[in-house]
Amino acid sequence: MSRLVMKFGGTSVGDVERIARVARLVAAERKPGRGLAVVVSAMAGETDRLVALARAAAGEGGNKAPLAGDDFNDEYDVVVASGEQATTGLLALALRRIGVPARSWQNWQIPFRTDAAHSKARVLDVETEALAASIDAGCVAIIPGFQGVTAEGRISTLGRGGSDTSAVAVAAALGAERCDIYTDVDGVYTTDPRIVPKARRLDKICYEEMLEMASLGAKVLQTRSVELAFARRVPVRVLSSFAEPGAANPGTLLCPEDQIVEKQIVSGIAYSRDEAKISLLGVADRPGAAAEIFTKLADANINVDMIVQTEARQAGRQNMLFTCPDRDAQRASETIAEAREQIGVEEIHLRRDVAKVSVIGIGMRSQAGVARTMFAALAQKGVNIEAIATSEIKISVLIDAAYTELAVRALHSAYGLDVA
Ligand code: ASP
Ligand code: MG
Repeated sequence: MSRLVMKFGGTSVGDVERIARVARLVAAERKPGRGLAVVVSAMAGETDRLVALARAAAGEGGNKAPLAGDDFNDEYDVVVASGEQATTGLLALALRRIGVPARSWQNWQIPFRTDAAHSKARVLDVETEALAASIDAGCVAIIPGFQGVTAEGRISTLGRGGSDTSAVAVAAALGAERCDIYTDVDGVYTTDPRIVPKARRLDKICYEEMLEMASLGAKVLQTRSVELAFARRVPVRVLSSFAEPGAANPGTLLCPEDQIVEKQIVSGIAYSRDEAKISLLGVADRPGAAAEIFTKLADANINVDMIVQTEARQAGRQNMLFTCPDRDAQRASETIAEAREQIGVEEIHLRRDVAKVSVIGIGMRSQAGVARTMFAALAQKGVNIEAIATSEIKISVLIDAAYTELAVRALHSAYGLDVA
């Protein structure tokens, strides 16, 4: 018996006609000896609507302080989880209508267990006994994504975009041959096709590369779902939900590195405009200065990304720069400003119109000259580099945000990724 997990996002189940389409896509995957489980999102816009209702009921916008934290999150989960639950029933009905046996499985019926961190719960385990028996007997299981049940039997949710993670968790538990994630794009591209019309769909990408792409703003899958697929070695395919049932729809396969025979030096170019740069000039050059700076930032819950430290001209001083999400930039600079005297920082400069552009590829591990190609391509377009960070399979540069598109296009060509 083989098993396949299919997942459909909010746009794909946006109305009853689309749900009927999804039913046909599911029906096309039925074959003897294969059990099917389908994980669904809430209909497009529904989660936002439910979130707004929960906040309004908790008093947001009123005169008194709204409910928050533990007083809010458990019941918020009850409200927002209902969006996916409705879709499960609708899809089960649409399948039965075309003669396919199907039923919905709510999380407490499976059970799909999570911890009790309401609104951002983590998956603990997925029971498969009853579920597997039912799908193996030919009844398609429809499971609501983005949620689970806690040890106390209460409803939890996994955080926005969490239904990708649900689908991968179900696939891992069922030992599925694959987890097919149907979405409004037909795969993972070498870069954002809205910026580079010559971007190509990748047939395959390995988990590590996809993690870098996802965390750098190429938002096709929730990053957590890729981490889980990587940890459990679940093959995941991203494909279009708009293709005709039965038509060619190869998508992009996420797989372990050893299954990629032709290793590209660079597989993709990612970018993020949600960046800000904070330069600290004349920082006291003594043990503990960096620790104090980054402790203050961590205490303020600010996620720091690139960090560069260099010697300053004056003796006993050094310069430092770091980047953080743009929305936190003002707070980050104020946090350091408050401790300026104590740490010993002469000047603080904040620059918000910066972007991070990264080249990603596992082939980089074994190839020299990747950085040279990147810097030469940027130089040729007159793009100045303000900071550089590298990992084993990635090189990122910080540049003036106005040059983002130019830089992405130049790099896409420089690494030979343009379609012919
Ligand atoms: N419906 C949820 C959201 O909009 C979960 C998901 O679709 O992945 O965030
Ligand atoms: Mg999504």
